[in-house]
Amino acid sequence: MLKHLSPTGSPIKLFELVSWFYSALSGSGDRAKLQNMVKRLLNREYSFLYSTGRGAMTELLSAVKALHGKHGERNEVILPAYTCYSVASSAINAGLKIRLCDIDPQTLSYDLQKLREIDFSRVAAIVSANLYGLPNDLGALERVAMEHGVLLIDDAAQSLNSKIDGRHVGTYGYAGILSLDKGKNVTSMQGGLIVTNDSELAEYLDKASEQLSDLSSKSKFIEFVKVFVYFLFLNPYAYKIPANISFSGLGETRFETEVEVKAYPEFLSSLAIAQFDRVELITESRVSRGEFYEQTLNPGSGVSKIAKLESTEPVYLRYPILVHDGDLRSDLLTQYRQYGISASYPEPLNLLSEIEAHLVTREACPGAERVAREIVTLPTHAFVTDNDAKRICEIVNKL
Ligand SMILES: *Cc1c(COP(=O)(O)O)cnc(C)c1O
Repeated sequence: MLKHLSPTGSPIKLFELVSWFYSALSGSGDRAKLQNMVKRLLNREYSFLYSTGRGAMTELLSAVKALHGKHGERNEVILPAYTCYSVASSAINAGLKIRLCDIDPQTLSYDLQKLREIDFSRVAAIVSANLYGLPNDLGALERVAMEHGVLLIDDAAQSLNSKIDGRHVGTYGYAGILSLDKGKNVTSMQGGLIVTNDSELAEYLDKASEQLSDLSSKSKFIEFVKVFVYFLFLNPYAYKIPANISFSGLGETRFETEVEVKAYPEFLSSLAIAQFDRVELITESRVSRGEFYEQTLNPGSGVSKIAKLESTEPVYLRYPILVHDGDLRSDLLTQYRQYGISASYPEPLNLLSEIEAHLVTREACPGAERVAREIVTLPTHAFVTDNDAKRICEIVNKL
């Protein structure tokens, strides 16, 4: 195959690149406009922009600790044992202890029975995951949070524009998080947001925002160059190059201990604004790919699909499956890499040595461990053609 599909990533259009370039040079970025678009889309009263999603999460968890931590009495946050590593970094950077809860490998949502068994006496908040554009059981999480007098943080970094009963993911509970990083639904290379309807939180974040420093000139320059690199190399006829020298890191995560909370660089905003303008089209294209996999995949007993929860409208940032046999899985991942068939986070959080010291208890999380071992994701982005999708289904159905 001549092409090499990336595992994830929304393409930037040429006209968007050109108009972004002019607006960046003329200094006509518009953070306020971007914030307003997000508020309108998610129907929230307040939105706050940061340089990254993990920065937004760190700021939000710091606010939770300051406003609802009862002076240190409640200094724990519950995280799903399988989620993006930067959620754990954010919790640590906000000065919170982490209590992990296992997930259900059939839905990738919290194992609700295990969640209900947790000792909530020192817990301040629960964080959702909504990985790959699949909404968690957010209604149930909201109820558990309410019963125990803790806050729900709805992490929609991978689920922008996915919904449950018409309600956007990211709007459940106390506040939501969005990411504009590479490989997310809408990207401006980096960026993150907090969305909320809580006026006390908004006042706190407003004050804290005044203290945010800008990215250094060097980092801004690097981001500037990255826009062009991303534009050029996400194309399947060019992605071979970065994929083979493995510098892109698209769809991969390494654990980073330090999280910087900085201001969102204004010169990137027009890129994000252009994509929010066509967010429904971006969503539709991913959804149609995801639904095609959902209907066409008919795998044998060696592969399972993830069950879609009732009333949810996933956006399928990637399409996850579980491949039970380890050897079969590694063959699939090496032989068909050029189809954008890819692994995901290689470890559950309970086995990450970097966060060990910050865990309240150390327990096995068999559901999350199994997902880390077995997960494979299929690409859904706009560069995946009908033929690619058909071929990918054939490959998986043959396993
Ligand atoms: C990407 C991601 C984040 C963090 O966003 P960044 O912008 O990459 O810092 C948080 N949570 C989840 C689930 C993510 O996928």
